[in-house]
Amino acid sequence: MEQGLVSEDGKNARAVLCQRCGCKVLSAGVATLAKRELLLPSMKKTSLAENSEQECELLIEHWLVHDMFTFDNVGFSKDVGSIKFLVCADCEVGPIGWHNLKEQNSFYVALDRVHHE
Ligand SMILES: [Zn+2]
Repeated sequence: MEQGLVSEDGKNARAVLCQRCGCKVLSAGVATLAKRELLLPSMKKTSLAENSEQECELLIEHWLVHDMFTFDNVGFSKDVGSIKFLVCADCEVGPIGWHNLKEQNSFYVALDRVHHE
């Protein structure tokens, strides 16, 4: 992991930004580092809907947020079963994160899918 991303209390030391357009997803200090194995479809230029058989990637390090109002900006994909993928609110690049409708208070943003300010 890049150095300086996590503060001493396990929070994101830097703001989280969209890799493509720089839109701010999370302010610094609002999310907690969480390790969990989550499968996210690879980031492709085509939309999720057009690509039902796309490859998935296993991602382990995420910023965990407990309330969707914590996000500065975020969008959601259509439900895939009980899963919603998080996308950039501005340019809709993604998925950058993962949310299970059965775990209402957990939103994950993959460190590998975002930039840090
Ligand atoms: Zn964007």
